[in-house]
Amino acid sequence: MTVAPDTTETFANADLLSLPRPALQRLFVQAGEKPFRAEQLFRWLHVRLVRDLDEMTDLPASLRTRLRVARSLRVLEPVRAYVSTDGSTKHVLRTQAGLAIEAVVMPMAGGHVTECLSSQVGCKMGCDFCATGRLPDRADLTAAEIVEQVAIACRQSFAAGQGRGGVAGGETGPLSGRPHNLVYMGMGEPLDNLQAVVDSLDILCDPKGYDFSPRRITVSTSGLAKRIPALVAAHPHVNLAWSLTATTDEVRDRLMPVNKGVPIQRMVDTLRDLPPSQSRKITLEYALLRGVNDSADDAARLARISRELDAHANVIPFNAWPGTDYQRPERAVIRRFVDDLERAGGSVTLRESKGQDIGAACGQLAGKTQQP
Ligand code: SAH
Ligand code: SF4
Repeated sequence: MTVAPDTTETFANADLLSLPRPALQRLFVQAGEKPFRAEQLFRWLHVRLVRDLDEMTDLPASLRTRLRVARSLRVLEPVRAYVSTDGSTKHVLRTQAGLAIEAVVMPMAGGHVTECLSSQVGCKMGCDFCATGRLPDRADLTAAEIVEQVAIACRQSFAAGQGRGGVAGGETGPLSGRPHNLVYMGMGEPLDNLQAVVDSLDILCDPKGYDFSPRRITVSTSGLAKRIPALVAAHPHVNLAWSLTATTDEVRDRLMPVNKGVPIQRMVDTLRDLPPSQSRKITLEYALLRGVNDSADDAARLARISRELDAHANVIPFNAWPGTDYQRPERAVIRRFVDDLERAGGSVTLRESKGQDIGAACGQLAGKTQQP
């Protein structure tokens, strides 16, 4: 006989995996459970990365029964992993709503691993040069769905024996496979899904959870200036990236509709006037498009903005995707642009995107579950 779920139960439909530790404790207290039980559950979820209540052996069986009416803890189903010749892996993952998202794990220079996280399915910002903006399906990810992308990378690297150890508290479990750096630069506009992003950062930076240093996390935005203070208030030391991509409002209006509401100078003022942090870094992302934003004047203006914000510029030569008319500049033009920028006093890195052969490079994430 199956017992009908108790819909009056406090845990009914609760999204346990999305809750930062204080919120999980509040829920437990509300349910008449002891706060330390919430701590135990948090450890199972965000240190041991266990998703099966039956494995949580130090929780009383009666509590586990109560928790069964909560939402499923299996929020993302791995569909496929594509491995690039440069060593990066694109994980295609399916949400419970049946939508595909992507997370990319990239080995970087010096043996470090960076994971690029999605914050939404698709993106409604509509940047003309970005494949993600063209996707028909749109949805906000929950904090659980954002954090689970990290859990998947940890499990994979741990299983492959690549755990690097050294996690606070001498952790030897799956967290020893943590990526070194996280960037919210996959599908979606993080600041268009701010609460879930803040909750995910709470969980990822919790010393009793994944224990990431905020210095190792970067949140990227196309320029939703109004939301930046709230992000910074919640996580003052997380690094910020701004996808600038054009140095005049005229060109930026065409490339990125967000610019019509928040022109370049307003974002510069917002970023410049943030409360100071000892460690927060600001990066300017600049997708270089042939004949659109690759002139010597652009380099001079970009250098000026990067000096004003004390920001580092990442120049990313455009990655083509099916159906786009934009093109990557010639090699010599890319080189000249970077040289001009450096000569004008800008601090700059030329980013050759990872995973181009598997459609995992910047701006190519488009929820494909098949190889193109
Ligand atoms: N929505 C956020 C986070 C995504 S970051 C943002 O825009 O900041 C994705 C980065 O890749 C952005 O800096 C974007 O400008 C860049 N990008 C998008 N399409 C690209 C393409 N086809 N080639 C190179 N870079 C691209
Ligand atoms: Fe969205 Fe960023 Fe792509 Fe613009 S560049 S459409 S904001 S993901």
